[in-house]
Amino acid sequence: MSAPDEQILCGVCRKRPANHHIAEVISGTMSIRDFCTECLEASGMDANPAEKEIKPGSVCRYCGSQPGPTGTDFLALALGEVRQSEPICMNCSLEYLFFAQRELSRISHLSGEEQQARLQSLRGEADEHMREWVVRKK
Ligand SMILES: [Zn+2]
Ligand SMILES: [Zn+2]
Repeated sequence: MSAPDEQILCGVCRKRPANHHIAEVISGTMSIRDFCTECLEASGMDANPAEKEIKPGSVCRYCGSQPGPTGTDFLALALGEVRQSEPICMNCSLEYLFFAQRELSRISHLSGEEQQARLQSLRGEADEHMREWVVRKK
């Protein structure tokens, strides 16, 4: 076992790696719940709520490759925005998630109101981070 803190484990069984990340907003505070496939299925939640919205021929908004099934913009979810999520590929959504989780862990001590304010600017920062990340990756 190397670098155990780099791998996100399923929050339910804490054994298998979490490959689904569901954002939940409870009274203005966002939490991300991590599930493995089995626990997610057991919970009865929809793993890919945005999948249906991805149109054929659309490309990842960051790197231009084919978008994966995880099209959820969970920062938009956290802000309570109801909007069509833009397509994003699997690699980009993972990087996006890691960036957002790291930033969110830094604001977890703030009040709900302050978190909301921070989340607004996080949207732009996450976009910027992703553009830089895609350039570096090429
Ligand atoms: Zn599990
Ligand atoms: Zn991409």
